[in-house]
Amino acid sequence: MQTALVKPEGRYAIMEMTAAVVREKGGAFQLEKVEIEPPRPNEVLVKIAGVGMCHTDLVVRDQYFPTPLPAILGHEGAGEVVEVGSSVTKVAPGDHVVLSFASCGGCSNCQQGQAGYCPDLYGRNFSGARPDGSTPCCDAHGKDISAYFFAQSSFGEYALATEANVIKIPSDVPVELMGPLGCGIQTGAGAVMNALRPGAGSSIAIFGVGSVGLAAVMAAKVVGCAQIIAVDLNSKRLETALELGATHTVNAGEVNPVEAIQDITGGEGAQYSLECTGLPNVVRQATDCLRLTGICGIMGVAPLGTEINLDMNAILFGRTVRGIIEGDSIPDIFIPQLVELWRQGRFPFDKLITQFPLSQIDEAAHASEKGDVLKAVLIPGA
Ligand SMILES: [Zn+2]
Ligand SMILES: [Zn+2]
Repeated sequence: MQTALVKPEGRYAIMEMTAAVVREKGGAFQLEKVEIEPPRPNEVLVKIAGVGMCHTDLVVRDQYFPTPLPAILGHEGAGEVVEVGSSVTKVAPGDHVVLSFASCGGCSNCQQGQAGYCPDLYGRNFSGARPDGSTPCCDAHGKDISAYFFAQSSFGEYALATEANVIKIPSDVPVELMGPLGCGIQTGAGAVMNALRPGAGSSIAIFGVGSVGLAAVMAAKVVGCAQIIAVDLNSKRLETALELGATHTVNAGEVNPVEAIQDITGGEGAQYSLECTGLPNVVRQATDCLRLTGICGIMGVAPLGTEINLDMNAILFGRTVRGIIEGDSIPDIFIPQLVELWRQGRFPFDKLITQFPLSQIDEAAHASEKGDVLKAVLIPGA
């Protein structure tokens, strides 16, 4: 039975919509009728055409990061602008946009094009509220729900984003597929193209070829790496990596991946490595497989407080270990580049996508966790 909507005192509730809400730690994504406010001056209301599910949504559902529950998650939204706030000039109703992450825009890192390292990144993306502490969504009983996750909360029919984190894309590409460019795909591709920047002919080992790792594989092919070594425990994913540009695969359940990478690289080790699993022992492998002066990028998300062990003398010999957030991307520049590479057939990230109606979001989450799908994209209203 439908509960009548109660409009709380003082809230200018504009619109009812269906969204997926997580109410308890580790609980299901459940579709509910919620209300969403109209855009404030710097905000943009987007009708979601498709939204990717990223590992970080599941990490927050499970409260590794304590975004207050109940919450509307979802941070790989894409769709059509339907309304803009009074000060917005970047986009207009009818534009197609990809939604990306939020940052303050004013700190020194933001101003130097390193928004992934904004000191307020956690607050802007995980607090479940606007910077002023308000949330634009309430449930059918008028109770506040955490929203504004990554300044979007796009697991719903509509999302409120800000002028800063909407990225306009051409109207002749299928907008419902483009959402994953806003986080997971940009993270993997940007780690190669923006952060590590391997030269043509170089070697790179990529540990964990889920959607982020596979985006890195495709990007390594785009930039001309000669040896692209995919490492995983799942032979099906390794086959996919070969199809997308890996030159070698290593099943870490069958052989020692460090030795295998040293063999493939003529005993030297890889010039670059990427760790996409969030597992401390894999970080160790991803550094041990490097040649002298090699660089390891860490991208996996682990519970807060997770520690790693490294061989100090191995690092001493010129090796570098660094973290990479959102692929060091400036989304306004990088996402249109990825759209163009996709259009040319050089970055076929759509091959990773399995579509689900939003109503099957919990099935999509389980299929993602089991490894049955690489990148679930949810379609509201399907
Ligand atoms: Zn900042
Ligand atoms: Zn993400």
